[in-house]
Amino acid sequence: MKNILVCGGGGFIGSHLVKRLKEQGHWVRVCDLKYTEYGESPADDFVIGDLRNQLVCDALFNTRIDEVYQLAADMGGAGFVFTGENDADIMHNSALINLNIVERAVKHDVGKVFYSSSACMYPEHNQLDPDNPMCSEDSAYPANPDSEYGWEKLFSERVFLAYMRNYNLDVRVARFHNIFGPEGTWDGGREKAPAAMCRKASLAEDGTSIEVWGDGKQTRSFLYVDECVDAMLKLMESDFHGPVNIGSEEMIAINDFAQMAIDISGKSLTINNIEGPEGVRGRNSDNNLIREKLGWDYSMSLQEGMEKTYEWISEQVKLREEGVRVEIKADNARHWHCDGISVADLDMRDRVLYTSQH
Ligand code: NAD
Repeated sequence: MKNILVCGGGGFIGSHLVKRLKEQGHWVRVCDLKYTEYGESPADDFVIGDLRNQLVCDALFNTRIDEVYQLAADMGGAGFVFTGENDADIMHNSALINLNIVERAVKHDVGKVFYSSSACMYPEHNQLDPDNPMCSEDSAYPANPDSEYGWEKLFSERVFLAYMRNYNLDVRVARFHNIFGPEGTWDGGREKAPAAMCRKASLAEDGTSIEVWGDGKQTRSFLYVDECVDAMLKLMESDFHGPVNIGSEEMIAINDFAQMAIDISGKSLTINNIEGPEGVRGRNSDNNLIREKLGWDYSMSLQEGMEKTYEWISEQVKLREEGVRVEIKADNARHWHCDGISVADLDMRDRVLYTSQH
């Protein structure tokens, strides 16, 4: 049994990871700004705290921590990352979190640290042709990401790798390619394409249309969240440091992807392509390195993953339409309040009842 800290363990990938780590019998502490939105977290200790704050980060290591998974970031889908409106916050908040965590990991002699980078760090000039994007790990330089989100990921990758060289920190760096599945953000502006497609198809009246940003010819690939967690754990168990892609090579044009969601919904809907933030023209994971180093590859088809995701999102849509409020009793939650000098532990056990309107 290891003591594991999951930063961002209240988010989409983090909450799936926490479940898996608990199944494996580890002691898990989470730190996140918010509690998990779709059910109680099995974490042993769920700290609601701000990782931008150095005192909060220090306090997280008040017990022996063997491994850290650093997933916390100020992030969202194209509507959050590519409009330009959130650039300063994205860079400031995520860089602060990464600088704080990497420093503490060295200071507290943490065994291994996982850092979640993104395919958004790949150069735009290699992703102009929707049919032939290049995202092999060695194509990262000369750098030219198309968003500040991608630049921050590249910067933070380099920070973690520099700490490995200079302070012997044992790091693992993965570049995720569009992870999707149930229990992720599905509305509100931070959702990503798979969740947005499922929500739109689920909400649409039969015989109407759904809106898709851009001309729909831009391409992407999407990896189901359970497979992402498999690959993360395999990377942590291995001697390979990365950076390495974790993604699927099943590339699809966005209009075909929207049509997949429509077909799953069983409705008769048309696609209305409108102007909107799009990102690069083409992107696909290149899994040659991960196959070679870890013997890992994706196995679930996009169709199967989308059927599971659609089922969950249409259930959320139904609950909201019916005005059902889902109550989550957060027995393991503790709020850490920082007054600038110290961190006070406001133990909220048995008193906090999180209610989310789904
Ligand atoms: P998410 O937004 O669901 O999870 C991130 C979590 O970080 C959230 O719960 C958020 O509350 C938390 N967080 C943000 N700022 C914080 C702060 N100051 N203090 C404490 N917690 C804070 O995102 P996700 O999809 O689970 O992604 C996890 C990681 O993987 C992120 O670093 C993301 O950039 C990266 N990534 C994700 C994808 C994807 O497709 N989901 C693709 C590439 C990279």
